[in-house]
This record gives sequence, C-alpha cells and structure tokens, in this order.
Amino acid sequence: MRVLGIETSCDETGVAVFDTENGLLAHHLFSQIDLHALYGGVVPELASRDHVRKLVPLIRDTLAESGLELTDLDGVAYTAGPGLVGALLVGAGVARSVAWSLGVPAVGVHHMEGHLLAPLLEPEAQERLKPPFVALLVSGGHTQLIHVRGIGDYELLGDTLDDAAGEAFDKTAKLMGLPYPGGPLLAQLALEGTAGRFKFTRPMTDRPGLQFSFSGLKTQVLMAWQQSDQTAQTQRDIARGFEEAVVDTLAMKCERALDAADCDTLVVAGGVGANRNLRARLQQLMSERDGQVHFPRPAFCTDNGAMIAYAGALRLLAGQRQGPEITVQPRWDMASLPPLSKLTSE
Ligand code: ATP
Ligand code: MG
Ligand code: FE
Repeated sequence: MRVLGIETSCDETGVAVFDTENGLLAHHLFSQIDLHALYGGVVPELASRDHVRKLVPLIRDTLAESGLELTDLDGVAYTAGPGLVGALLVGAGVARSVAWSLGVPAVGVHHMEGHLLAPLLEPEAQERLKPPFVALLVSGGHTQLIHVRGIGDYELLGDTLDDAAGEAFDKTAKLMGLPYPGGPLLAQLALEGTAGRFKFTRPMTDRPGLQFSFSGLKTQVLMAWQQSDQTAQTQRDIARGFEEAVVDTLAMKCERALDAADCDTLVVAGGVGANRNLRARLQQLMSERDGQVHFPRPAFCTDNGAMIAYAGALRLLAGQRQGPEITVQPRWDMASLPPLSKLTSE
C-alpha cells in the first residue's frame, strides 16, 4: 500500500510517500522559519497561507522523487490534530480532496502518534521495537510519558504542568538574546559549554510522580544571565547548565516511568529527541538497565511528513477510514485513539 502523508500542524509543510512493502520512498519538508523569525514566534494566519502556497508543489516534488503518479497512490494520510486550526485545515482539505478525486481512502493522523511512531521508519527498528514500551514525547508543545501497550493503545503516565521541554529550550534561548527559533541553537552552544559552572534545579524530581514543570527553570536562567558578565563563554556555560538540568530531569522521570510500567524499552521522539546530550544520557541509562532505547533519526525528530505517512499507513492497513467531511481536531487526547488491534478485529 502506497500512502501519501501530509503534515501541516504548525510551521512546517511536510510531505512523504510510505510504501508498506518498500518503506519510505521520498519525503520533502519546507520550513517557514524565515517567515516567522521576524515576529519571534509562529503567526498562525501566516502559517496557514504559506501551507496553501507550498503544499501542492511539495506533493508534486515528492511524487516525482518517488517515481510515482498520483494515480499510483492507495491512500492519503494527513495530520488532523493537535495543532493550529487554520494550518491543519489546509492539510486536511488538500489530503481529503486528493483522496476523493482518486477514489482512495483517507485517514486523519494524530500528530503525536506520528512523532511516537517515527523510530519505526528505520527498517532495523521494525524488527526489534515492539510494544509494550514507554515513550517520552518531547517536542515544542508536549512533554509526555506514555505507556504504549500496543500501537494506538496509549496511557498517559506523565505530562508537563506548564512549558513543554522544547518550549523551555526556545524561551531560554530567547531570554539570552538568541534568534528564533532558539532551541537547536542553545543546544549547539551547550556542546561547547563548561559542565558544572552553572547548576540549576531539576524541577519536581524531589517528590514522587511523573509530572514535569519547566517554567521555573527559565526564570533561574534569566537571573543567572542578568547577574553574569554576559560573555560568549558564559552564554555557552549557562546553556550547558540549563541543558543538563533538562536532560537529568527527563532521564530521572523516564526511569520512574519504566519502573511504573514494568518495561525495559524506551522510545524517545519529538524535536528535543534530536538533542545529542539527551540521546547519549538515555542510551547510557538503558544500557545500564539492560534495556533498549529507540530514537528517530534526527531529521525525523522534528515535524515531517514521513511520520504521518507511516502512522497513516498502519491505520489504513488496519481498516481505519475517514468519512468524506473535512474535519480537524486542534486539541486531541491521544488516549482517545482507537487501538490498532481493535480495528483489525472488527
Ligand atoms: P508539537 O509536536 O508538540 O506539536 P512542534 O511540532 O512544534 O510541537 P517539534 O517539531 O517536534 O515540535 O520540535 C520542535 C521543538 O524541538 C522546538 O521547541 C525546538 O527548540 C526543539 N529542538 C529541536 N532540536 C533540538 C535540540 N537539538 N535540542 C533541544 N531542543 C531541540
Ligand atoms: Mg516547527
Ligand atoms: Fe511536532
């Protein structure tokens, strides 16, 4: 089954074709970073309009690279939520129309399920990575620990009370004067920072539980930055101290979640999953526990069409179908998704 995947939940237009027999055939991404940089953050209406401009040309490019015609497609998957309503509607409208005109099924994919399944785009992970496992989703809008009992069968174990991990990276970067979007830049600086010169708290690790809170950390960084000499090296050292606090906190809660769910496999996905120190720490943690950890390749940690094509292909194969109406769910609880096993048995 050859599935076209379309991602337009925020400020990235992503398109891919996943073939259930031959794997990922092609993927293209257009980032709107330059468009929003001027405003220091994503402007929803500008995002929608740019998806309108870029989506159809990207579909053409992706099909050309796959060596396919539109009529070779067997299904279309698109991000139906969560995300910006206008941006989602562009993807849903185009995806639904393409499917309708071709007479093939369409399916609306949960963006975070896309992130969660992205490690499975690697053929070797498909052999080794099987539920049950614990997933750490760390992105611009989410920080969640999820017990994955099966594909589509998700239990939320922990969530953030305020900022998401990626949001904390972006906001911390901004308050030290780094340009938008600062998260990856801050991580880059942290690589050259001195470990231990700045020590920030590990929020909510001194009590039991799997909840997160990152907004206080931002304030600590602001105080440290304002009271410092503000040299380039100090900026790197503060970045390092901040990153270590986030990485430590995430690692501690992953351990707790693995214990609570009695699992020895961890999946890490979402933009912050591209962070080198986080990857190294969790790799070390899982080897100490004699378990395994799986990450998407860095390019598939952040938003992309491939993860949507893949998640959609699994759901279409299991028989899930979307009606002809064009609907999106800007807010959408992952635990409400139908488990794949239930779809197959119906
Ligand atoms: P969501 O998926 O929750 O809707 P999103 O789609 O905006 O949010 P992603 O595209 O998954 O989020 O990830 C973007 C986030 O990842 C940004 O906040 C960015 O700062 C962060 N990020 C990307 N690379 C790194 C890195 N190397 N280290 C830390 N953070 C990173
Ligand atoms: Mg983005
Ligand atoms: Fe995302």
